[in-house]
Order: sequence, then structure tokens, then C-alpha cells
Amino acid sequence: MTEPYEIIIGLEVHVQLLTRTKLFCGCSTRFGAAPNTQTCPVCVGMPGTLPVMNRRAFELSLRTAVALNCQIAPYTKWDRKQYFYPDLPKGYQISQYDLPFSFDGYLEIADPSGAIEPRRIGIIRAHLEEDAGKSMHDERASQADSRIDLNRTGTPLLEIVSQPDLRSPAETKAYLTELKLLLTYLGVSDCNMQEGSLRVDANINLHINTPDGHVVATPIVEVKNVNSFRAVERAMTYEAQRQFEVWQETGQKLGDVPKQTRGWDDVANLTRGQRHKEESSDYRYFPDPDLVPVTVTPEEVEAVRANLGELPADLRHRLELTYGISPYDSDVLVNQGPALVEYYLEVVRGCGDGKLASNWIQQDVLRSLKEREVEIAEYGVKPAALADLLTKVKAGELDTSRGREVLAAMISSGKSAGEVMADLGIASVDDSELVAMCQELVDANPRIVADVKAGKQQAAAALIGQAKKKNPNVNAARVREICLELIARL
Ligand SMILES: [Zn+2]
Repeated sequence: MTEPYEIIIGLEVHVQLLTRTKLFCGCSTRFGAAPNTQTCPVCVGMPGTLPVMNRRAFELSLRTAVALNCQIAPYTKWDRKQYFYPDLPKGYQISQYDLPFSFDGYLEIADPSGAIEPRRIGIIRAHLEEDAGKSMHDERASQADSRIDLNRTGTPLLEIVSQPDLRSPAETKAYLTELKLLLTYLGVSDCNMQEGSLRVDANINLHINTPDGHVVATPIVEVKNVNSFRAVERAMTYEAQRQFEVWQETGQKLGDVPKQTRGWDDVANLTRGQRHKEESSDYRYFPDPDLVPVTVTPEEVEAVRANLGELPADLRHRLELTYGISPYDSDVLVNQGPALVEYYLEVVRGCGDGKLASNWIQQDVLRSLKEREVEIAEYGVKPAALADLLTKVKAGELDTSRGREVLAAMISSGKSAGEVMADLGIASVDDSELVAMCQELVDANPRIVADVKAGKQQAAAALIGQAKKKNPNVNAARVREICLELIARL
């Protein structure tokens, strides 16, 4: 049954940019240092200090905005957003208010498994701002204790605001996955959610179809503290149901109550009400008098566009066209990130078979990476070595199941495919020898032969099993082929 409402979701994503230093001072942005060791008079907001913009942060932001098909403002300025919070020592955050450096873009989302329709999700704006510090609350002690770490204060953040174009939790997850992938391929962020490099706030409400044929919008709620894409999906599912129930009870519509902020509790699997959200007029924005505006020429934008490199959507398309793999396969490979795609391409160069390489990487390499919780760079078999193994599989020197055994031994021993095959005594079986063996099997198994003749081709599996017992080196696919051929002649 379809829901009696439509879900409307827009996302604000904060991305920490991969710069060595902060947005307006020379302090390091390295994660994990001892508290308050990466600060200076500028980022802790001492009177009389002057900020200077980090060029690199602006370049990375520009790169992202161009890749998101945004318009780039020829003139952009910095504004002070005033609010009082213990981890914001200046009493204001330097951000961009009415003239963001980019606006009006879009990101295409798709899912080859067919769970969602391919669609363009609008980007309202992307702007650059500095991060605040971190409050750490220790509530275990008998006296609750709060501490402030200002290492993060002044770290460059790119805020990407989507249109309220997302219509389901699944689309929301697809948008975030594609955005993260784009940022990874652009090299602008490490997108590490555990370290806070990528933070998601979601605005959600419902358009409810009432029995009398009207459409009613529920109040918009901002959901915060969602720490994984899976959590975003679950939070949106929960919140849609909650808003529908509240509407059934109270009949509250958009505009009846102030915008509410709710936090996602991943353990309890629900959202809880937080403070009411400030309106932008509460922030008393005004242009920062200490920073000069930034101008960008059309030539500079074109230069950025020309140097974007191959983005995920183009890369998927190229893999499908060049190597004949399916959209599903190219999606799996590309979604693993640039390092895995590079590995794949090297294997293909070595073995000359894009489909075979894709199958083995998806079924064997990715599973092994997951089991060992390592990245492709740490995988024990180099692309040339895997390509060598696949070349032997392709030539019929060993079948897939024997190939898997060899690969497992290659990982544990670091030896080449040839060396492992010598160790295991794997040698390809001569075709005439195979035909003779198959003839024996066919002669000795009249019942199986009768089954196959009656149309039960799967009965031939028993013959392959017997052949493997006689000689583990036989190629299962070849044995099946020969046996079926011999039976057909009977
Ligand atoms: Zn500093």
C-alpha cells in the first residue's frame, strides 16, 4: 500500500576540506592532537588579530561547486554570524550569508539495482565557513564536567545545501552516497564521518493527502546528530512516521509552530526534541570588516572545470563502454573509490578481460578486504599477480574453484600464481586425457546418463564430482562440456 503522504527532504551537508591549515590562520587541521594544541591568537579570537583567507580552501570549494554544476559568483564576501556558545570564542562565526560564492547547481542520483529512479537533485548553494570548537561533556563523574577543545575552531567547512527535492529515505541515502563519492574523487575531503569530516543535517516534512482531496504540509523539522548514511535513512523513516502520527493527533500544519530541531538517537532508534531553531535574523549577520571580498573571473572558473578530472558518473560510463561490464558492475567498482578502480584497470590491462576482472574483484577481492577490514592498498595480491592468475583461468589451466584456492594461497604466502600451482601440484589436464576420463564416467553411470537424457542437465554435476575425485586438477566446466557432448551422442 502506498503511504497517504509524500516525504519532502532537503539536506545541509558540512564537509571538512582537506587543507593542511585552517581557514583564516596557519594552525594545523590535523585530527586527534591533544586538546588546544593547535590554536593561535587568530582562531581563539584575541582582540586585534586579523584573519587572512586560506587560498587552498577556496580553490577546493570552487572545484566542488563546479563539479556540482553550480553558478559561481564573480564577487563573494564574508559575513559574521553572531551567536553565543562556549566553543565559539569570538562570539561569531565567519561564514557567507547573502552572497555565497556558488549557487543553483545539481547532483544526479541513480541506482542500477532499480531501487530509485535516476534524478537530478537541486543544490541551492554551497558556501565556505569556519568550524567552531568542540565541547566535551563528561557525565560519568559525580560532578558533571565540561571541557572545551578549540583545535577544530577555524577549520574550513564547505556547506552544501540541497533543494527539498528528496522524496524518500532511500533517495536521501543515494544522494549522500553520490555526494561523498564525488568529494572523494575530487580529492577535496576525506569524508570521514567518525572524525566529523562530513556532517549531515536533514530538513524533513510531509505533504499529506487528506481524505477530502487537499494537501496539507506538516511543520518542518531539522534532524541533527546523524552519524552514518544508514542512520540518515533510518532517521528519515522514523521521522516521517512520527510526523504523520503527530498530525493525526493534533492537526498541526506548517506555520502553526516554530521550526523544531530534533536529535537522532542511534541506539534508541528515535529522534528527540532539542532547542527551537534561531531564525536568520537572530544571528545579526553583517559583512566582516577584516576580510576582503573574493573575486572570481569566468576564465578562472573554466580553468577549474578543465582540471576536474574524471568524475564518478563519467567513469562508470567509460567502464561500461570500454570493458563491456554492466551498469551494476561499474557502479560497484566506482563506488569503492579511485584506488579500487585503478586496481581494476591494472588487472584488466594484464589479463585483457574486463568482465572476468570485474567478477573476481567483486566476488573475491572485495570480500577479502571486508573480512580483513583493510583498504585495497593493503591487499596482499598486487594487480599484476591477480592478472596473471586470471590469464591462467581464462586459458583453462585451472577452473574457478581451483583458482580461488590458488588466490587464497597467494594472499597468505605472497607467492605468484605459478609458484602456488607448483606447490599444490596443479597442472592442467590434457584434453585427450579428459575425454578418456569422461568416457569412462559416462560408461560407468547409466542412471545419470538417463537423467541427463531425460532433460535433467543438472544431473551432470555428479559426473564432475567424480572427475574431481579422480583428478582435482580437471577443469569442471570442460568436464561438463565433454560429458554432455558424449551423452548427446548416445
Ligand atoms: Zn590559529
